[in-house]
Amino acid sequence: MSQHSTDIRQRFLFPNSDIRGEIVRLDASLKPIIAARQYPMAAESLLSEAIVAATLLSGSLKFKGRLSVQAQGDGALKLLLAECTHDNQVRALIHTAEDAEVPNSQALSDLLGKGVMAITIRPEQGQDYQGMVPLEKDTLAACLEDYFEQSEQLPTRLWLASGNGQAAGIMLQALPQQVARKEDNDLTWERVVALTETLTLDELLGLPVETVLHRLFHEDPPQLPQAQPVSFGCTCSRERVARALISLGVEELQSMLDEQNEAKIQCDFCSKTQTFDAVDLAQLIHTMKEHQHSPSD
Ligand SMILES: [Zn+2]
Repeated sequence: MSQHSTDIRQRFLFPNSDIRGEIVRLDASLKPIIAARQYPMAAESLLSEAIVAATLLSGSLKFKGRLSVQAQGDGALKLLLAECTHDNQVRALIHTAEDAEVPNSQALSDLLGKGVMAITIRPEQGQDYQGMVPLEKDTLAACLEDYFEQSEQLPTRLWLASGNGQAAGIMLQALPQQVARKEDNDLTWERVVALTETLTLDELLGLPVETVLHRLFHEDPPQLPQAQPVSFGCTCSRERVARALISLGVEELQSMLDEQNEAKIQCDFCSKTQTFDAVDLAQLIHTMKEHQHSPSD
């Protein structure tokens, strides 16, 4: 158990059942994400919950890669994106519509409007996997439950809470049958869901992970594999920015060089700026032209 990290993901497993639980508590890892922008309060709280959700879901990653929870709509918030990697590094952002007033509401329909939610799994090696559901419920937790029901056929319950710069969440998921008889598993499922429903969102947010699990399940304690520390981490790099610049094309880069004499690209996630000066830009353009003329391409 990681006693020193305030930010953890703890899996919990009920013996003789095919039910997986995850509990996540985040504090320090949210700070740089929130500090990167001046988000309106409602946006900050939704963003925090989305980061918790991505962290809860990433517990199912069986390979190196990242999982993202993304919602796009026609409301004041255009895009909500939260990512968590296999080694529990999180990053996230919100894009607001231009000139939009973000309503001080908790309801997804007020914030994002009509739209879709997508879960994307992006392995370091191999093909991306993406599933989508329409945004038809008013909380992120309920939309994700919809997603698992429609897209994965895995009964799933989620509880997400945020406030005071912190966020926490619990997920319960009934996995495909492996060790338990279906009738037994259904009974265990009903029992653990009913127990979890006794927890208030304030308790979920305010109590340490061990206390929450003890309070809910002390009569039949779940197994607790090693808790995983969660931290903020951005994968942006100079190489990625260079690739983004190259994708603009020779003409666009040439006019950047002529007009601005440099390119400054700020990362949407961490606000770090990469500067490509005149020499760097000229070098990129030179390389691109060489590639254009190379017969092997
Ligand atoms: Zn970054």
